[in-house]
Amino acid sequence: MTTRVGSPPPAAPPGFIDTLRAIVGDEWLYTDPHALAVYECDGLTHARETPLAVALPADAGQVRSLVVACAEAGVPFVARGHGTGLSGGAQPVPGGIVIGLARLNRILHVDLANQLMTVEPGVTNLDITRHVAPYGYYYAPDPSSQQVCSIGGNVAENSGGAHCLKYGFTVHHVVALEVVLADGRVVTIGSDTADEPGPGLLPLLIGSEGTLGIATRVTVRLLRRPERVKTLLAAFDSIDTGGQAVADIIAAGIVPAAIEMMDRLAIAAAEAAVHPGFPDAAAVLIVELDGPGAEVAARFEEVVAICRARQATHLEIAADEAQRARIWKGRKAAFAAMGRISPNYYVQDGVVPRSKLSEVLHRIADLERRSGLRIANVFHAGDGNLHPLICYDAAVPGQTEHAAAVASEILTYCLEAGGSLTGEHGIGVDKACSMPKMFSADDLSAMQRVRRALDPAMLCNPGKVFPTPRLCGEAPGPYRPHPVERAGLAERL
Ligand SMILES: Cc1cc2nc3c(=O)[nH]c(=O)nc-3n(C[C@H](O)[C@H](O)[C@H](O)COP(=O)(O)OP(=O)(O)OC[C@H]3O[C@@H](n4cnc5c(N)ncnc54)[C@H](O)[C@@H]3O)c2cc1C
Repeated sequence: MTTRVGSPPPAAPPGFIDTLRAIVGDEWLYTDPHALAVYECDGLTHARETPLAVALPADAGQVRSLVVACAEAGVPFVARGHGTGLSGGAQPVPGGIVIGLARLNRILHVDLANQLMTVEPGVTNLDITRHVAPYGYYYAPDPSSQQVCSIGGNVAENSGGAHCLKYGFTVHHVVALEVVLADGRVVTIGSDTADEPGPGLLPLLIGSEGTLGIATRVTVRLLRRPERVKTLLAAFDSIDTGGQAVADIIAAGIVPAAIEMMDRLAIAAAEAAVHPGFPDAAAVLIVELDGPGAEVAARFEEVVAICRARQATHLEIAADEAQRARIWKGRKAAFAAMGRISPNYYVQDGVVPRSKLSEVLHRIADLERRSGLRIANVFHAGDGNLHPLICYDAAVPGQTEHAAAVASEILTYCLEAGGSLTGEHGIGVDKACSMPKMFSADDLSAMQRVRRALDPAMLCNPGKVFPTPRLCGEAPGPYRPHPVERAGLAERL
Protein backbone atom coordinates (compact mmCIF):
# COMPACT_ATOMS: atom_id res chain seq x y z
CA MET A 1 0.00 0.00 0.00
CA THR A 2 1.21 3.48 -0.81
CA THR A 3 0.53 6.29 1.62
CA ARG A 4 -0.63 9.50 0.04
CA VAL A 5 -0.13 11.92 2.79
CA GLY A 6 -2.77 14.43 1.89
CA SER A 7 -5.99 15.05 0.04
CA PRO A 8 -6.06 16.80 -3.37
CA PRO A 9 -3.64 19.73 -3.24
CA PRO A 10 -4.78 23.35 -3.26
CA ALA A 11 -4.91 24.93 -6.71
CA ALA A 12 -2.11 27.22 -7.86
CA PRO A 13 -2.61 30.92 -7.19
CA PRO A 14 -3.65 32.76 -10.40
CA GLY A 15 -0.71 33.48 -12.68
CA PHE A 16 1.75 31.53 -10.51
CA ILE A 17 2.47 28.77 -13.03
CA ASP A 18 3.01 31.36 -15.77
CA THR A 19 5.52 33.11 -13.53
CA LEU A 20 7.43 29.86 -13.04
CA ARG A 21 7.36 29.21 -16.78
CA ALA A 22 8.77 32.63 -17.48
CA ILE A 23 11.67 31.89 -15.12
CA VAL A 24 12.79 28.44 -16.31
CA GLY A 25 11.18 28.22 -19.76
CA ASP A 26 8.44 25.87 -20.89
CA GLU A 27 10.81 22.95 -21.41
CA TRP A 28 11.89 22.90 -17.77
CA LEU A 29 8.54 23.29 -16.06
CA TYR A 30 6.47 20.16 -15.53
CA THR A 31 2.78 20.28 -14.72
CA ASP A 32 1.62 17.21 -16.62
CA PRO A 33 0.47 14.45 -14.19
CA HIS A 34 2.70 11.83 -15.86
CA ALA A 35 5.79 13.98 -15.48
CA LEU A 36 4.87 14.93 -11.92
CA ALA A 37 4.54 11.25 -10.96
CA VAL A 38 8.34 10.91 -11.18
CA TYR A 39 8.73 13.48 -8.41
CA GLU A 40 6.07 12.15 -6.02
CA CYS A 41 8.59 10.53 -3.69
CA ASP A 42 12.28 9.99 -2.99
CA GLY A 43 13.82 6.69 -1.83
CA LEU A 44 11.04 6.37 0.76
CA THR A 45 8.82 5.10 -1.99
CA HIS A 46 5.73 4.22 0.00
CA ALA A 47 5.05 7.84 0.98
CA ARG A 48 3.94 9.97 -1.97
CA GLU A 49 2.51 13.38 -2.68
CA THR A 50 1.86 14.98 -6.07
CA PRO A 51 3.47 18.42 -6.44
CA LEU A 52 1.73 21.36 -8.02
CA ALA A 53 4.61 21.69 -10.47
CA VAL A 54 8.26 20.77 -10.87
CA ALA A 55 10.72 23.44 -11.97
CA LEU A 56 14.24 22.58 -13.11
CA PRO A 57 16.27 25.79 -12.94
CA ALA A 58 19.47 26.21 -14.95
CA ASP A 59 21.44 28.21 -12.41
CA ALA A 60 21.47 29.85 -9.00
CA GLY A 61 19.80 32.98 -10.38
CA GLN A 62 16.81 30.96 -11.53
CA VAL A 63 16.66 29.16 -8.16
CA ARG A 64 16.45 32.55 -6.48
CA SER A 65 13.73 33.78 -8.86
CA LEU A 66 11.67 30.63 -8.20
CA VAL A 67 12.00 31.09 -4.44
CA VAL A 68 10.97 34.76 -4.72
CA ALA A 69 7.93 33.73 -6.80
CA CYS A 70 6.98 31.21 -4.09
CA ALA A 71 7.45 33.79 -1.33
CA GLU A 72 5.27 36.31 -3.16
CA ALA A 73 2.53 33.76 -3.85
CA GLY A 74 2.78 32.02 -0.46
CA VAL A 75 3.48 28.67 -2.15
CA PRO A 76 5.69 26.13 -0.32
CA PHE A 77 8.67 24.61 -2.12
CA VAL A 78 10.92 21.58 -1.71
CA ALA A 79 14.47 21.36 -3.00
CA ARG A 80 15.29 18.08 -4.70
CA GLY A 81 18.75 16.81 -5.49
CA HIS A 82 18.75 13.36 -7.06
CA GLY A 83 15.90 11.90 -5.02
CA THR A 84 17.86 9.10 -3.28
CA GLY A 85 16.98 10.27 0.24
CA LEU A 86 15.55 7.53 2.42
CA SER A 87 13.49 9.58 4.87
CA GLY A 88 11.08 11.40 2.54
CA GLY A 89 12.91 14.74 2.77
CA ALA A 90 12.36 15.50 -0.92
CA GLN A 91 8.73 14.39 -0.88
CA PRO A 92 6.59 17.26 -2.22
CA VAL A 93 4.27 19.12 0.11
CA PRO A 94 0.61 19.56 -0.79
CA GLY A 95 0.07 22.54 -3.04
CA GLY A 96 3.82 23.11 -3.23
CA ILE A 97 6.37 22.96 -6.01
CA VAL A 98 9.56 20.94 -6.35
CA ILE A 99 12.72 22.82 -7.28
CA GLY A 100 14.91 20.16 -8.87
CA LEU A 101 18.63 20.91 -8.85
CA ALA A 102 19.86 18.28 -11.31
CA ARG A 103 20.78 20.88 -13.95
CA LEU A 104 23.03 22.74 -11.53
CA ASN A 105 25.80 20.23 -12.15
CA ARG A 106 28.85 22.32 -12.94
CA ILE A 107 32.22 22.20 -11.28
CA LEU A 108 32.96 25.86 -10.63
CA HIS A 109 36.45 26.02 -9.21
CA VAL A 110 39.26 23.65 -8.25
CA ASP A 111 41.93 24.97 -5.90
CA LEU A 112 44.40 22.15 -5.39
CA ALA A 113 46.92 24.37 -3.62
CA ASN A 114 44.38 24.89 -0.83
CA GLN A 115 42.69 21.51 -1.31
CA LEU A 116 39.29 23.06 -2.01
CA MET A 117 36.72 22.65 -4.73
CA THR A 118 33.53 24.62 -5.39
CA VAL A 119 30.66 22.95 -7.17
CA GLU A 120 26.99 23.42 -7.91
CA PRO A 121 24.64 21.35 -5.74
CA GLY A 122 23.58 18.90 -8.46
CA VAL A 123 27.11 17.49 -8.90
CA THR A 124 27.15 13.89 -7.73
CA ASN A 125 29.29 12.95 -4.75
CA LEU A 126 31.47 10.59 -6.77
CA ASP A 127 32.03 13.10 -9.58
CA ILE A 128 33.87 15.34 -7.12
CA THR A 129 36.38 12.58 -6.48
CA ARG A 130 36.50 11.57 -10.15
CA HIS A 131 37.40 15.12 -11.09
CA VAL A 132 40.43 15.36 -8.79
CA ALA A 133 41.53 11.70 -8.67
CA PRO A 134 44.11 12.21 -11.45
CA TYR A 135 45.90 14.67 -9.16
CA GLY A 136 45.90 12.34 -6.15
CA TYR A 137 42.98 13.88 -4.25
CA TYR A 138 39.52 12.75 -3.19
CA TYR A 139 36.39 13.82 -1.32
CA ALA A 140 36.07 11.71 1.82
CA PRO A 141 32.38 11.26 2.76
CA ASP A 142 31.22 8.27 0.74
CA PRO A 143 27.55 7.35 1.07
CA SER A 144 26.81 4.01 -0.58
CA SER A 145 24.65 6.00 -3.01
CA GLN A 146 27.63 8.15 -4.00
CA GLN A 147 27.40 7.31 -7.71
CA VAL A 148 24.01 9.00 -7.90
CA CYS A 149 23.31 11.26 -4.91
CA SER A 150 24.02 14.98 -5.16
CA ILE A 151 26.36 17.01 -2.98
CA GLY A 152 23.41 19.35 -2.25
CA GLY A 153 21.46 16.38 -0.88
CA ASN A 154 24.55 15.32 1.12
CA VAL A 155 24.72 18.79 2.65
CA ALA A 156 21.02 18.78 3.52
CA GLU A 157 21.24 15.33 5.14
CA ASN A 158 24.77 15.65 6.58
CA SER A 159 25.41 12.37 4.82
CA GLY A 160 27.89 9.83 6.04
CA GLY A 161 29.29 6.64 4.64
CA ALA A 162 31.57 3.75 5.38
CA HIS A 163 34.65 5.92 5.82
CA CYS A 164 33.07 8.43 8.21
CA LEU A 165 34.37 6.58 11.26
CA LYS A 166 37.84 7.99 10.63
CA TYR A 167 37.09 10.99 8.43
CA GLY A 168 33.81 12.39 9.73
CA PHE A 169 30.60 13.39 8.00
CA THR A 170 29.68 15.99 5.37
CA VAL A 171 29.74 18.69 8.04
CA HIS A 172 33.46 18.05 8.51
CA HIS A 173 34.24 18.48 4.81
CA VAL A 174 32.13 21.43 3.65
CA VAL A 175 33.74 24.82 4.30
CA ALA A 176 31.33 27.21 2.60
CA LEU A 177 27.83 27.34 1.18
CA GLU A 178 25.91 29.80 -0.94
CA VAL A 179 22.27 29.54 0.12
CA VAL A 180 19.04 31.02 -1.18
CA LEU A 181 16.95 31.72 1.92
CA ALA A 182 13.16 31.30 1.96
CA ASP A 183 12.55 34.97 1.17
CA GLY A 184 14.95 34.96 -1.78
CA ARG A 185 17.95 36.54 -0.06
CA VAL A 186 21.24 34.96 -1.10
CA VAL A 187 23.83 34.47 1.65
CA THR A 188 27.29 32.95 1.78
CA ILE A 189 28.04 31.02 4.92
CA GLY A 190 31.55 29.90 5.80
CA SER A 191 34.62 30.68 3.73
CA ASP A 192 37.79 29.27 2.24
CA THR A 193 39.82 30.36 5.25
CA ALA A 194 40.43 28.19 8.27
CA ASP A 195 38.24 29.95 10.78
CA GLU A 196 35.59 32.64 10.82
CA PRO A 197 34.47 34.96 13.59
CA GLY A 198 30.86 34.82 14.74
CA PRO A 199 28.57 31.91 15.48
CA GLY A 200 29.08 28.79 13.36
CA LEU A 201 26.16 28.79 10.97
CA LEU A 202 27.51 26.09 8.65
CA PRO A 203 26.72 23.22 11.06
CA LEU A 204 23.23 24.69 11.44
CA LEU A 205 22.62 24.58 7.70
CA ILE A 206 24.29 21.21 7.16
CA GLY A 207 21.84 18.52 8.16
CA SER A 208 18.83 20.87 8.22
CA GLU A 209 17.18 18.68 5.55
CA GLY A 210 16.35 21.47 3.14
CA THR A 211 14.29 23.38 5.71
CA LEU A 212 16.46 26.49 6.01
CA GLY A 213 17.12 27.34 2.36
CA ILE A 214 18.47 25.94 -0.90
CA ALA A 215 22.22 25.47 -1.30
CA THR A 216 23.29 26.72 -4.72
CA ARG A 217 27.06 26.51 -4.32
CA VAL A 218 29.11 24.15 -2.15
CA THR A 219 32.82 24.42 -1.33
CA VAL A 220 34.30 21.14 -0.12
CA ARG A 221 37.62 20.14 1.36
CA LEU A 222 39.71 17.68 -0.66
CA LEU A 223 41.99 15.13 0.92
CA ARG A 224 45.20 13.61 -0.38
CA ARG A 225 44.85 9.97 -1.32
CA PRO A 226 46.44 7.92 1.49
CA GLU A 227 49.77 6.32 0.70
CA ARG A 228 48.45 2.84 1.43
CA VAL A 229 45.05 1.16 1.83
CA LYS A 230 44.55 -2.39 3.10
CA THR A 231 41.22 -4.15 3.21
CA LEU A 232 40.22 -7.28 5.08
CA LEU A 233 37.08 -9.39 4.84
CA ALA A 234 36.57 -11.55 7.93
CA ALA A 235 33.71 -13.98 8.50
CA PHE A 236 32.32 -15.05 11.88
CA ASP A 237 29.88 -17.67 13.06
CA SER A 238 27.87 -15.14 15.02
CA ILE A 239 27.22 -11.41 15.02
CA ASP A 240 28.43 -11.37 18.62
CA THR A 241 31.92 -12.66 17.85
CA GLY A 242 32.18 -10.21 14.95
CA GLY A 243 31.10 -7.47 17.34
CA GLN A 244 33.72 -8.54 19.86
CA ALA A 245 36.36 -8.30 17.14
CA VAL A 246 35.20 -4.73 16.44
CA ALA A 247 35.45 -3.85 20.15
CA ASP A 248 38.96 -5.39 20.35
CA ILE A 249 40.17 -3.46 17.29
CA ILE A 250 38.99 -0.14 18.69
CA ALA A 251 40.29 -1.01 22.19
CA ALA A 252 43.72 -1.64 20.64
CA GLY A 253 43.80 2.04 19.66
CA ILE A 254 43.37 1.31 15.96
CA VAL A 255 41.13 3.74 14.06
CA PRO A 256 40.16 1.94 10.87
CA ALA A 257 39.12 4.05 7.90
CA ALA A 258 36.04 1.82 7.81
CA ILE A 259 34.66 -1.08 9.78
CA GLU A 260 31.40 -2.48 8.41
CA MET A 261 29.33 -5.52 9.25
CA MET A 262 26.66 -7.46 7.34
CA ASP A 263 24.59 -10.36 8.65
CA ARG A 264 23.61 -13.60 6.91
CA LEU A 265 20.51 -12.26 5.16
CA ALA A 266 22.32 -9.15 3.91
CA ILE A 267 25.18 -11.36 2.66
CA ALA A 268 22.71 -13.57 0.79
CA ALA A 269 21.07 -10.54 -0.85
CA ALA A 270 24.43 -9.06 -1.89
CA GLU A 271 25.52 -12.41 -3.31
CA ALA A 272 22.30 -12.69 -5.32
CA ALA A 273 22.68 -9.18 -6.70
CA VAL A 274 26.38 -8.47 -7.32
CA HIS A 275 28.22 -11.73 -6.51
CA PRO A 276 31.02 -10.31 -4.36
CA GLY A 277 32.11 -13.82 -3.35
CA PHE A 278 31.30 -13.43 0.33
CA PRO A 279 31.49 -16.66 2.36
CA ASP A 280 28.41 -18.32 3.82
CA ALA A 281 28.59 -16.95 7.38
CA ALA A 282 26.51 -15.47 10.18
CA ALA A 283 28.37 -12.19 9.75
CA VAL A 284 31.11 -10.62 7.67
CA LEU A 285 33.24 -7.74 8.77
CA ILE A 286 34.99 -5.43 6.32
CA VAL A 287 37.91 -3.62 7.92
CA GLU A 288 39.90 -1.06 5.99
CA LEU A 289 43.01 0.74 7.20
CA ASP A 290 44.64 3.62 5.37
CA GLY A 291 47.53 6.01 5.93
CA PRO A 292 51.33 5.87 5.76
CA GLY A 293 52.51 2.51 4.40
CA ALA A 294 54.57 1.33 7.39
CA GLU A 295 51.85 2.21 9.90
CA VAL A 296 49.11 0.54 7.88
CA ALA A 297 51.19 -2.62 7.46
CA ALA A 298 51.89 -2.92 11.18
CA ARG A 299 48.38 -2.18 12.39
CA PHE A 300 46.81 -4.38 9.74
CA GLU A 301 48.68 -7.36 11.18
CA GLU A 302 47.17 -6.54 14.56
CA VAL A 303 43.67 -6.47 13.02
CA VAL A 304 44.22 -9.87 11.40
CA ALA A 305 45.50 -11.28 14.70
CA ILE A 306 42.44 -9.94 16.56
CA CYS A 307 40.06 -11.51 14.04
CA ARG A 308 41.92 -14.82 14.32
CA ALA A 309 41.76 -14.65 18.11
CA ARG A 310 37.99 -14.15 17.80
CA GLN A 311 37.76 -17.37 15.74
CA ALA A 312 37.15 -15.80 12.34
CA THR A 313 35.99 -18.61 10.06
CA HIS A 314 37.36 -16.99 6.90
CA LEU A 315 39.89 -14.24 6.21
CA GLU A 316 40.43 -12.57 2.85
CA ILE A 317 42.98 -9.82 2.38
CA ALA A 318 42.48 -7.75 -0.78
CA ALA A 319 45.60 -8.28 -2.87
CA ASP A 320 44.86 -5.51 -5.35
CA GLU A 321 42.42 -2.73 -6.17
CA ALA A 322 40.14 -5.07 -8.12
CA GLN A 323 39.73 -7.39 -5.14
CA ARG A 324 39.14 -4.44 -2.82
CA ALA A 325 36.53 -3.02 -5.20
CA ARG A 326 34.76 -6.41 -5.29
CA ILE A 327 34.55 -6.54 -1.50
CA TRP A 328 33.19 -2.97 -1.33
CA LYS A 329 30.74 -3.65 -4.13
CA GLY A 330 29.15 -6.30 -1.92
CA ARG A 331 28.76 -3.81 0.92
CA LYS A 332 27.74 -0.76 -1.10
CA ALA A 333 25.10 -2.70 -3.04
CA ALA A 334 23.59 -4.11 0.15
CA PHE A 335 20.49 -1.89 0.30
CA ALA A 336 19.54 -2.18 -3.35
CA ALA A 337 20.36 -5.91 -3.25
CA MET A 338 17.42 -6.49 -0.92
CA GLY A 339 15.23 -6.15 -3.99
CA ARG A 340 16.58 -9.59 -5.01
CA ILE A 341 15.12 -11.31 -1.99
CA SER A 342 12.05 -9.26 -1.10
CA PRO A 343 9.41 -7.39 -3.14
CA ASN A 344 9.76 -4.37 -0.82
CA TYR A 345 12.03 -3.34 1.99
CA TYR A 346 12.25 -0.53 4.47
CA VAL A 347 15.66 0.93 5.31
CA GLN A 348 15.89 1.94 8.94
CA ASP A 349 18.74 4.13 10.24
CA GLY A 350 19.38 4.39 13.97
CA VAL A 351 22.43 4.84 16.15
CA VAL A 352 23.47 3.13 19.37
CA PRO A 353 26.59 3.47 21.50
CA ARG A 354 29.08 0.95 20.09
CA SER A 355 29.04 -0.93 23.40
CA LYS A 356 25.28 -1.56 23.00
CA LEU A 357 25.43 -2.98 19.46
CA SER A 358 25.15 -6.59 20.49
CA GLU A 359 22.27 -5.97 22.93
CA VAL A 360 20.25 -4.04 20.35
CA LEU A 361 20.93 -6.58 17.60
CA HIS A 362 19.56 -9.31 19.90
CA ARG A 363 16.41 -7.27 20.44
CA ILE A 364 16.07 -6.84 16.67
CA ALA A 365 16.48 -10.63 16.19
CA ASP A 366 13.73 -11.20 18.74
CA LEU A 367 11.52 -8.66 16.97
CA GLU A 368 12.14 -10.47 13.69
CA ARG A 369 10.83 -13.70 15.22
CA ARG A 370 7.77 -12.02 16.72
CA SER A 371 6.90 -9.83 13.73
CA GLY A 372 7.13 -12.53 11.07
CA LEU A 373 9.09 -10.13 8.84
CA ARG A 374 12.66 -10.90 7.81
CA ILE A 375 15.17 -8.26 8.91
CA ALA A 376 18.65 -8.01 7.41
CA ASN A 377 21.32 -6.00 9.19
CA VAL A 378 23.99 -3.89 7.55
CA PHE A 379 25.84 -1.48 9.76
CA HIS A 380 28.69 0.90 10.27
CA ALA A 381 29.95 -1.12 13.23
CA GLY A 382 32.61 1.40 14.23
CA ASP A 383 30.17 4.19 15.00
CA GLY A 384 27.15 2.12 16.03
CA ASN A 385 25.06 3.19 13.02
CA LEU A 386 22.55 0.42 12.33
CA HIS A 387 20.70 -0.10 9.06
CA PRO A 388 18.12 -2.82 9.64
CA LEU A 389 16.43 -3.68 6.33
CA ILE A 390 12.87 -4.83 6.96
CA CYS A 391 11.52 -7.08 4.20
CA TYR A 392 7.83 -6.90 3.36
CA ASP A 393 5.36 -7.30 0.54
CA ALA A 394 3.32 -4.19 -0.19
CA ALA A 395 0.83 -6.36 -2.09
CA VAL A 396 -0.19 -8.02 1.19
CA PRO A 397 -2.79 -5.80 2.86
CA GLY A 398 -1.48 -4.21 6.02
CA GLN A 399 2.14 -5.32 5.56
CA THR A 400 3.47 -1.85 4.69
CA GLU A 401 2.05 -0.49 7.93
CA HIS A 402 3.36 -3.53 9.81
CA ALA A 403 6.87 -2.94 8.42
CA ALA A 404 6.68 0.73 9.40
CA ALA A 405 5.64 -0.26 12.94
CA VAL A 406 8.55 -2.72 13.15
CA ALA A 407 10.95 -0.01 11.92
CA SER A 408 9.61 2.38 14.55
CA GLU A 409 10.00 -0.26 17.28
CA ILE A 410 13.69 -0.60 16.33
CA LEU A 411 14.13 3.13 16.84
CA THR A 412 12.70 2.75 20.33
CA TYR A 413 15.38 0.12 21.05
CA CYS A 414 18.05 2.55 19.82
CA LEU A 415 16.75 5.33 22.05
CA GLU A 416 16.46 3.02 25.05
CA ALA A 417 20.11 2.09 24.50
CA GLY A 418 21.07 5.77 24.67
CA GLY A 419 21.26 6.22 20.90
CA SER A 420 19.63 8.41 18.27
CA LEU A 421 16.84 8.40 15.68
CA THR A 422 19.17 8.79 12.73
CA GLY A 423 22.83 8.32 11.92
CA GLU A 424 22.87 9.73 8.40
CA HIS A 425 19.56 9.41 6.53
CA GLY A 426 17.77 12.24 8.29
CA ILE A 427 14.33 12.56 9.85
CA GLY A 428 12.29 13.80 6.88
CA VAL A 429 8.66 12.71 7.06
CA ASP A 430 9.61 9.18 7.99
CA LYS A 431 10.65 9.82 11.57
CA ALA A 432 9.12 13.21 12.32
CA CYS A 433 6.53 11.56 14.55
CA SER A 434 9.32 9.89 16.55
CA MET A 435 11.04 13.19 17.40
CA PRO A 436 9.13 13.60 20.70
CA LYS A 437 10.57 10.23 21.78
CA MET A 438 14.02 11.83 21.73
CA PHE A 439 13.39 15.51 22.41
CA SER A 440 11.26 17.35 24.96
CA ALA A 441 8.60 19.83 23.88
CA ASP A 442 10.99 22.63 24.88
CA ASP A 443 13.78 21.16 22.74
CA LEU A 444 11.48 20.92 19.74
CA SER A 445 10.13 24.39 20.29
CA ALA A 446 13.67 25.82 20.42
CA MET A 447 14.51 24.09 17.12
CA GLN A 448 11.33 25.45 15.54
CA ARG A 449 12.23 28.96 16.64
CA VAL A 450 15.56 28.70 14.84
CA ARG A 451 13.76 27.50 11.76
CA ARG A 452 11.20 30.29 11.91
CA ALA A 453 13.92 32.90 12.34
CA LEU A 454 15.05 32.02 8.81
CA ASP A 455 11.66 31.08 7.35
CA PRO A 456 8.84 32.81 9.24
CA ALA A 457 6.28 31.93 6.56
CA MET A 458 7.27 28.24 6.73
CA LEU A 459 7.49 27.83 2.95
CA CYS A 460 10.82 26.00 2.78
CA ASN A 461 10.18 22.24 2.94
CA PRO A 462 7.45 22.48 5.60
CA GLY A 463 6.09 19.36 7.29
CA LYS A 464 9.53 17.73 7.49
CA VAL A 465 11.67 16.89 10.53
CA PHE A 466 9.12 18.13 13.10
CA PRO A 467 5.95 16.32 14.10
CA THR A 468 2.76 17.83 12.72
CA PRO A 469 -0.87 16.92 13.36
CA ARG A 470 -1.26 16.12 9.66
CA LEU A 471 1.57 13.58 9.72
CA CYS A 472 1.28 12.20 13.19
CA GLY A 473 -2.45 12.22 13.66
CA GLU A 474 -2.50 14.16 16.89
CA ALA A 475 -1.32 17.52 18.11
CA PRO A 476 2.38 17.09 18.90
CA GLY A 477 2.34 20.01 21.27
CA PRO A 478 1.85 23.52 19.99
CA TYR A 479 4.65 25.66 18.67
CA ARG A 480 5.40 28.00 21.53
CA PRO A 481 6.90 31.34 20.59
CA HIS A 482 9.69 32.50 22.86
CA PRO A 483 8.96 35.72 24.83
CA VAL A 484 11.58 37.51 22.69
CA GLU A 485 9.69 36.51 19.58
CA ARG A 486 6.36 37.55 21.04
CA ALA A 487 7.77 40.99 21.73
CA GLY A 488 8.74 41.20 18.05
CA LEU A 489 12.42 41.57 18.92
CA ALA A 490 13.51 38.59 16.88
CA GLU A 491 13.04 40.62 13.70
CA ARG A 492 15.42 43.31 14.90
CA LEU A 493 18.13 41.11 16.45
C1 LIG B 1 21.00 2.60 -2.07
C2 LIG B 1 21.16 3.79 -1.16
C3 LIG B 1 22.26 3.86 -0.32
C4 LIG B 1 22.43 4.95 0.54
N1 LIG B 1 23.53 5.00 1.33
C5 LIG B 1 23.72 6.07 2.13
C6 LIG B 1 24.88 6.15 2.98
O1 LIG B 1 25.73 5.26 2.99
N2 LIG B 1 25.01 7.23 3.76
C7 LIG B 1 24.10 8.25 3.76
O2 LIG B 1 24.28 9.21 4.49
N3 LIG B 1 23.00 8.20 2.96
C8 LIG B 1 22.79 7.15 2.16
N4 LIG B 1 21.68 7.10 1.36
C9 LIG B 1 20.68 8.18 1.43
C10 LIG B 1 20.84 9.31 0.36
O3 LIG B 1 21.56 8.86 -0.76
C11 LIG B 1 21.50 10.54 0.98
O4 LIG B 1 20.66 11.08 1.97
C12 LIG B 1 21.83 11.64 -0.04
O5 LIG B 1 22.52 12.67 0.59
C13 LIG B 1 20.60 12.23 -0.72
O6 LIG B 1 21.04 12.99 -1.82
P1 LIG B 1 20.05 13.35 -3.00
O7 LIG B 1 20.74 14.21 -3.97
O8 LIG B 1 19.44 12.13 -3.56
O9 LIG B 1 18.97 14.21 -2.20
P2 LIG B 1 17.39 14.18 -2.25
O10 LIG B 1 16.86 12.85 -1.89
O11 LIG B 1 16.94 14.76 -3.54
O12 LIG B 1 17.04 15.21 -1.09
C14 LIG B 1 17.37 14.87 0.25
C15 LIG B 1 17.07 16.09 1.13
O13 LIG B 1 17.95 17.13 0.78
C16 LIG B 1 17.24 18.32 0.43
N5 LIG B 1 18.04 18.96 -0.61
C17 LIG B 1 18.50 18.40 -1.75
N6 LIG B 1 19.27 19.27 -2.41
C18 LIG B 1 19.30 20.40 -1.67
C19 LIG B 1 19.95 21.66 -1.80
N7 LIG B 1 20.72 21.95 -2.86
N8 LIG B 1 19.74 22.58 -0.83
C20 LIG B 1 18.97 22.33 0.24
N9 LIG B 1 18.35 21.16 0.43
C21 LIG B 1 18.52 20.21 -0.52
C22 LIG B 1 15.87 17.84 0.02
O14 LIG B 1 14.88 18.84 0.21
C23 LIG B 1 15.66 16.67 0.96
O15 LIG B 1 15.22 17.12 2.20
C24 LIG B 1 21.47 6.00 0.52
C25 LIG B 1 20.38 5.94 -0.35
C26 LIG B 1 20.22 4.84 -1.18
C27 LIG B 1 19.03 4.81 -2.10
